[in-house]
Amino acid sequence: MSFTAAIIGRPNVGKSTLFNRLVGQRLALVDDLPGVTRDRREGKARLGDIEFRVIDTAGLEDVTDQSLAGRMREQTERAIDDADVVLMVIDARAGVTPMDRHFADLLRRRSVPVLLVANKSEGKGGIAGAYESFELGLGDPIAISAEHGEGLSDLFDALVPYA
Ligand code: GDP
Ligand code: MG
Repeated sequence: MSFTAAIIGRPNVGKSTLFNRLVGQRLALVDDLPGVTRDRREGKARLGDIEFRVIDTAGLEDVTDQSLAGRMREQTERAIDDADVVLMVIDARAGVTPMDRHFADLLRRRSVPVLLVANKSEGKGGIAGAYESFELGLGDPIAISAEHGEGLSDLFDALVPYA
């Protein structure tokens, strides 16, 4: 596969939905099995005519112990280490939260290229969040709806340079 993309972001923005959308239904079913470790999932993504490895930094939102922040950070850092490009996902409906800024700060300290992905952008609910997201300093947001399969051609266009 030509390159590796890591999906990064705070819980509940739709990282796993995007992962499943990129990888396909087969792995999505596996993910629903109880007891399967969801700390990190990797899959072969297909978008248009490009194939790449995708890493979902997943599951830690279910952990409520004190080490959550540390583990989330460690997992994120490891995924960034392995990535040629990072998809930093935000929830366009929720707008930019302090935790989004935390992830953006972490990414700005690294040399990895970042694509800002404003998920949940179907309908009109995402417009405000997309504007707000410019403050993250990660460039123009790519508006998508992972759930509804919208905006994927824009994501494709942004990923082509890495293929
Ligand atoms: P993660 O914690 O970042 O991996 O987020 P999930 O993929 O588990 O999604 C969190 C919630 O957001 C779920 O209820 C999804 O159904 C919902 N979700 C994901 N993508 C979209 C989207 O494009 N639009 C809307 N409206 N909801 C979405
Ligand atoms: Mg997830």
